Amino acid sequence: MLDFDFPFDNSYARELPGCYVAWQPAPVSSPRLLFVNDALAIELGLPAPALAGEAGARWLSGCELPAGAEPIAQAYAGHQFGGFSPQLGDGRALLIGELIDQHGRRRDLAFKGSGRTPFSRGGDGKAAVGPMLREALIGEAMHALGIPTTRALAVAATGEVVLREAKLPGAVLTRVASSHLRVGTFQYFAARGETERVRQLADYAIARHDAALVGDPDRFHAFFAAVARRQATLVASWMHVGFIHGVMNTDNMTISGETIDYGPCAFMEACNPAAVFSSIDHQGRYAFGNQPVIARWNLARLAETLLPLFHEDPERAVARAMEVIDAFPAWFAQALLAGHRRKLGLRPGAGLDAQRDEADAALADDWLALLQAHGVDHTLGWRQLAHAVEEEGAGGASLAGLFPPAGAPALGEWLERWRRRLAGEAGDAAARAAAMRRASPWIIPRNHRVEEALSAASDRGDLQPFEQLLEALRHPFDEHPLHARYAEPAPAAATACYRTFCGT
Ligand code: AMP
Ligand code: MG
Repeated sequence: MLDFDFPFDNSYARELPGCYVAWQPAPVSSPRLLFVNDALAIELGLPAPALAGEAGARWLSGCELPAGAEPIAQAYAGHQFGGFSPQLGDGRALLIGELIDQHGRRRDLAFKGSGRTPFSRGGDGKAAVGPMLREALIGEAMHALGIPTTRALAVAATGEVVLREAKLPGAVLTRVASSHLRVGTFQYFAARGETERVRQLADYAIARHDAALVGDPDRFHAFFAAVARRQATLVASWMHVGFIHGVMNTDNMTISGETIDYGPCAFMEACNPAAVFSSIDHQGRYAFGNQPVIARWNLARLAETLLPLFHEDPERAVARAMEVIDAFPAWFAQALLAGHRRKLGLRPGAGLDAQRDEADAALADDWLALLQAHGVDHTLGWRQLAHAVEEEGAGGASLAGLFPPAGAPALGEWLERWRRRLAGEAGDAAARAAAMRRASPWIIPRNHRVEEALSAASDRGDLQPFEQLLEALRHPFDEHPLHARYAEPAPAAATACYRTFCGT
């Protein structure tokens, strides 16, 4: 037993009876820790060194829960690839409790891969080492990139075999989230006509994520707008780094605005709005460039669940929902522009001057179109633009070298236009280049490097490639010579046939 008193405070279990089923994790045969997130443990006020020991392995695999844990399987529904499933729920996950972290924020601790639950349907409730390490790795990468995300506290190998397309080593991941409320949580009760339950959930969500709205008579509408704004910012931040979530089903969209569920996600290499890597996304519904459209679609599904709370008159309720849904594209565009300005070395200030906003958005769009037209790597294209601040002409070999010779005239033209825009801004070149390098990472989780690290861990039990990659991903903006191999794009042929799987 861990010699530590966990100050659990389980508000979901306490305040929302009927929204979950109390359930125990399945014990596992021989738990062994593959990954412990020390920094996150400290943030949560947990004893990091003790977690890494044998007692830690027992609780982080679900064998022996600390006192105060109240494991529950949460109910939720969801639109999956556009089709509604009225009952999904935690089929291989359990919320084990909530802690207040060192900053006073309430955080969920949840297992993934902890065995069957009443929501498992045909599934085995288990997870494999590869996909769980993948979730840990990408979550840490997103966090280091400054993107809101759920994170892994630990991954424990179970010593068991999980049957997928092959026999795989099993694992349990401990996930930390600012909550596990999803669009699908609201859908579950709305689909059953349980309006009172939806109201309770909404009030719970408001207290947890939008405390300033507690007691506000118009709080449900303001809450919906707040969720929409968070999603606008989140999806814009994905677009800034070339992240493709891959399975933006409504059960995988949080109320908190954190990225959740790193199943079939991938990072784009060559710039391409049509990029899709998921093996099951045949229509490209969740393609890179479609993400803002899908976010809005998902928000409309959330609005449907809240309509009776917006107004008693159904027509007025729909009109109020549409205020937010119609505003979403502009909120997204603003968030996108704010990040693009940083990446372009421009000062912030979206919304102050409509004409300037439009011109700057066009400048960014044309840069992306140029990268796309010439098959330039999204990450390096943005990153090496900083060189063009410090150097004359086409920004030296580091930028020009990313383009084929035929692209040189178009690159030159765009750079000239950009430099004319920069000339109107104060600040010296070195400071501007440094600011641009803080906005455009050098290192992202390149798909081929992620696969290389995961197969070493899963196939050979060799964690070194995972640990080295994780270390590089934790410093995405630093050009450390030791990390150079992680900055290189994958060979185009590798990207062309790269496929991701849900890992279920
Ligand atoms: P996901 O694709 O991970 O977002 O999961 C979608 C739904 O399928 C959720 O209800 C999961 O709990 C459920 N699910 C995924 N994998 C499994 C599994 N191995 N066993 C039981 N349920 C699962
Ligand atoms: Mg999910």
